[in-house]
Amino acid sequence: MTDSLIFKVEGVAGKPGLKRDFTGAARIHVQVLDSVVDDEMAVSGTFTGTVDGVEARFTASTPVDLVCTRCLTEWTTVLETTADQHFSKIPDEDGYAIVDGTVDMAGPATDELVLAIPLAPVCKPDCKGLCPTCGTDLNTEPCDGHGDDSDSPFAPLKDLFDP
Ligand SMILES: [Zn+2]
Ligand SMILES: [Zn+2]
Repeated sequence: MTDSLIFKVEGVAGKPGLKRDFTGAARIHVQVLDSVVDDEMAVSGTFTGTVDGVEARFTASTPVDLVCTRCLTEWTTVLETTADQHFSKIPDEDGYAIVDGTVDMAGPATDELVLAIPLAPVCKPDCKGLCPTCGTDLNTEPCDGHGDDSDSPFAPLKDLFDP
């Protein structure tokens, strides 16, 4: 494991079918809404030579701090994603290319990890969330409810109808 995501592809690039494994790591810092990634990303995979360059098949992973969109609980989990990135001497639409016989996997890995961040994280599938009236966390404490209409202007009427 090296502390970089820049890898030499000389000897594989332009040689269809030749393969070379790689593994590395680098700092990543991205934020999407309340989800924060500020850690090291680990990236490993295989370069396969193509006629004009290399195809990188890679797996990237990094810890992510999430906030439940229902109850605001914070927790940390691991994002992991697998993707392909093609490199040639001509930059692609994202600007990724073989430069001086090397490729930088940080950009493609970051792109894929950002896509793997959940847009509306929930701490558990059946999270009950917070009471919209008093803010009680309904997972830990039942809210007595605000539907009892003792404060309601109709309470006196209710007394009339309730025997
Ligand atoms: Zn929750
Ligand atoms: Zn409540």
